[in-house]
Order: sequence, then structure tokens, then C-alpha cells
Amino acid sequence: MALLDRSEWYDIARATQWTFQYVPEEEIFPEGHSGSEGISNEVWSTYDEPYKVTYREYVDVQRQKDSGVYSVKAALDRLDMYAKADPGWISILKLHYGAVSTVEYAAALQESRYVRWSKAPGMRNMATFGMLDEIRHAQAQLFFAHEYVSKDRQFDWSHESMKTQNWGVLAARHFFDDMLMSRDATSTAIMANFAFETGFTNLQFIGLASDASNAGDFTFAKLIQSIQSDEARHAQLGTPLLQILIENGQKDRAQRLIDIALWRSWKIFTILTGIPMDYYVPLEHRESSFKEFMEEWIIDQFARSLNELGLDKPWYWDILIRDLSEHHHGQQLGTWSWRPTLWWSPAAGVSPEERDWLEEKYPGWNKTFGKCWDVLTENLKNGHVEKTIPGTLPVICNMSNLPIVGTPFTHLKDHPWEYGGRLYHFGSEVDRWIFQQDPERYSQHKSLIDRFLSGDIEPADLGGVLAYMGIGVLSEGGGDAHDYSWVDKYRSIEAKVS
Ligand code: MN
Ligand code: MN
Repeated sequence: MALLDRSEWYDIARATQWTFQYVPEEEIFPEGHSGSEGISNEVWSTYDEPYKVTYREYVDVQRQKDSGVYSVKAALDRLDMYAKADPGWISILKLHYGAVSTVEYAAALQESRYVRWSKAPGMRNMATFGMLDEIRHAQAQLFFAHEYVSKDRQFDWSHESMKTQNWGVLAARHFFDDMLMSRDATSTAIMANFAFETGFTNLQFIGLASDASNAGDFTFAKLIQSIQSDEARHAQLGTPLLQILIENGQKDRAQRLIDIALWRSWKIFTILTGIPMDYYVPLEHRESSFKEFMEEWIIDQFARSLNELGLDKPWYWDILIRDLSEHHHGQQLGTWSWRPTLWWSPAAGVSPEERDWLEEKYPGWNKTFGKCWDVLTENLKNGHVEKTIPGTLPVICNMSNLPIVGTPFTHLKDHPWEYGGRLYHFGSEVDRWIFQQDPERYSQHKSLIDRFLSGDIEPADLGGVLAYMGIGVLSEGGGDAHDYSWVDKYRSIEAKVS
């Protein structure tokens, strides 16, 4: 049988655009779902996806990817990495699986909305494969995490986290609901595929994969590299969309969506990637600092993509550059201190040699964040663990839903704004600016603190808050990953000196 070359039939097969005779166009593609902004169907049909693939090719490649990942897992299970791994590494797995696995299902819904509502036929086609990608990611990560549930119940959060009211989950869900789930197809693709996937998934899935290989967790490295190979493909579906918008007078709209999504992604990744890279990965296995990864993937590469498209750097670029050296250190102090509220056990990452590394990568760390750790370490040395756990709740940002943190002695400031008769609190001028872009969109959401103060959480004490967050229900909360063994190093230094 003579077979045509793919290039000879592909364009015809994907051109699924026709004129509707029985139903008005607006009923098939309501503006609120498609976000087509008055751009004509002729223009939308020019959408040119950067990669071309057929269904037959797609399933063949994906099957090979899956068999690669699952066979590495099967082969390495016998080595029992889990029993030998540093506890900091196990914490990374718990945090990753809890934060990522079921969000992949949300991403499948995100892509499915392009399949149905995008007015660009090429994008509908490409998104169909993207949707299948995301289902694969969810299923693989749930399967890989499931093996660990019998070893440690904190892995139960891999499946359950997004159904809870845990503070970290509230922050993640607020972000993903805003970016993935509740905007029209055009806006979603700009925010999620272009702003989020071209930059930030690289940080987690490539940056962390190097650390995983170094730490001997080849199964996890192989899994997340395989996922990223899909992300790198469907991430591209935002770029031709941006070209169409810019050529049709929608540059300002596109720019605003990118500015919102980039900042919101940055904030959540300080927890998901920033803290693990600089504090949890065993020192001898660290590939680069979080700041170095950010500089490579976001500051250089993402800025270049913006420039190539004729877009501008976000207006807050200088604030972002400063934040690279600051924000996640503040969140590390917060998450480690409030460790009973986590579904993983955070590593402190501040033994003497780790502090030297932090000072080298972030000059001035010892004089700022280090001073806070001095106090915590001193208390632990003297056996006062209870003095290292706060008795009250932190002030939480009404945009990021993360604690408002900053560099001790320099930048630590609430950025309040009054709207509709109530006062909102923000961790930065950028978080406040995002809220101001569409206050009605955000004003009804209650942060964990809002819920606590308005009586939604009972009893209104620490025990009540923990139960509300699922702690002690799905699993126990976190402790210090290394059970404070790092404090002994300070004790022995002192013993030598005296
Ligand atoms: Mn994915
Ligand atoms: Mn994706």
C-alpha cells in the first residue's frame, strides 16, 4: 500500500474549521470561554503549531516513554533507594508528589478546554495531545508515590492534598485556579503554557532531576525528565497564540496576563523548588543554587523569549531580581518553624558547612537570615525545642496565600490595600497590583487567617487549625527531617573551642 508523507496530508486533516449553519458562532464559541477578542476565524486558522505530530506517532512515542520510566522503576526498586536516602531527599519527594500529582489532572482539564473552546484549529489539535500528556503525568506520579504510602503515611498527601484546606494547598489552589481553571482558553494558554510552562516547569523537572540523579534517585530523575519532555512540547502552544494577539492589537492584554502569571508562578515555586534546592538536597549533591537556576531558566531564557516576541519584561523586573536572593529564605524560616503544619518534614539545612554554602551563594545571608537561625540553633542546643515553634499564626498575603516574609533588618513589609470596606494584606507591591487588576475576582477569597478570625475554624486554637488543615487526619504533621542531628555539629564545635 502506498503511504502519503505526513506533510502531504497533515494540513488538510487538522483544518477542522467550518461555517456553522444551524447555530450562531457565538453559541459554539462563547467569548467567555474562547477569549477570541473579536479576531476573525480567518486569522485563527493561521495558527501554526511549532511541532507537528499525528495520533499514530504520538501514542507510539508516549508508549516508549512510559515503558522507559516504568522499567527503570522496576529495575531499581530492588536497590531500595528509599532506605538509604537522606531524610531531606524523602521530604522533597513528599512535597513534590503532594503539590504536583493531582494538579496534573487539573492541567488535563485546562488543555481540554482548549480542545473545545479555542478558535484556532491547530491549537485544538495540539491541545488534544497536551491533554493526554497531563493524564499520563498524573497517573505516573500517583503510581510512583503510592509505593511509599506503606512506608510513611505522609505520602498519602500525594493523592489527598488538593482536597484539603492545608495552608500550602490553599496557596497552590488559589494560584492554579486563577491561572489554569477559571479563565478563557486564550488567556489560560498565555498564562499557563507560555508564562508558566516554558520557564517554571523546567526548574522543577530539569533542575530537580539533576539533583535527583546526584542523590542516587534515578527513578525519580527518569520520571520527571520524561514528564518534562511532554511539557517542553505542549508548552509551545502559547507562542503562536501570542503572535496572533500581538499582530492584532492585543499586546497590552497579553503583557498583563504574562506579568500576572510570571509573578504568581515565582511565588509558589519559591516553596516548591526554592526551599528544597537550597536547604533539603544533601549538600554534596546540589547541582546549582535556586538563584542560579532561576537566572538561567527565567531571567535569561524567558526574557529572551519575551524579547523575540516583541513583548516587554514585566514592570516589576527589578523587584523580581532582588527577590531571587531573598524570598525563599524567608519562606524556609517560616515553613521550618511552622513544621507541625506541613505534610512533610522539612530539613533545616543550616549545619555549619551548609551555612558556608548559603553565604557563598547568597552573600550576606549570615548577617540577615542567619541571625534568625542563630537564635533557633541556640534554643535547640539548650534543649528548648518548644521555643523554636511559634505559638501564633503568621500574617498571610491575600494574593499568594503565603506568609508575608522578607529579609530581616531590611525588607519586611505589609503592603495593605482597602477594598469594599475591608483591609487586605499583601506580601509585595506586585501581589497587590495583581489584586488591583481585578478586585472582584479575588476579594471573596478567604485566606487561612481570614477563616480563623471569622470563626470558620473550630476550636479556634492550634489543634483546631491543624485538624482543619488535615494534619493528624491524613497523617501526622512534620518535624525536623534530621531529628535535629545537625545541632550536634554545633555542640561539638563548642566542645572543641572550650
Ligand atoms: Mn504536566
Ligand atoms: Mn503541562
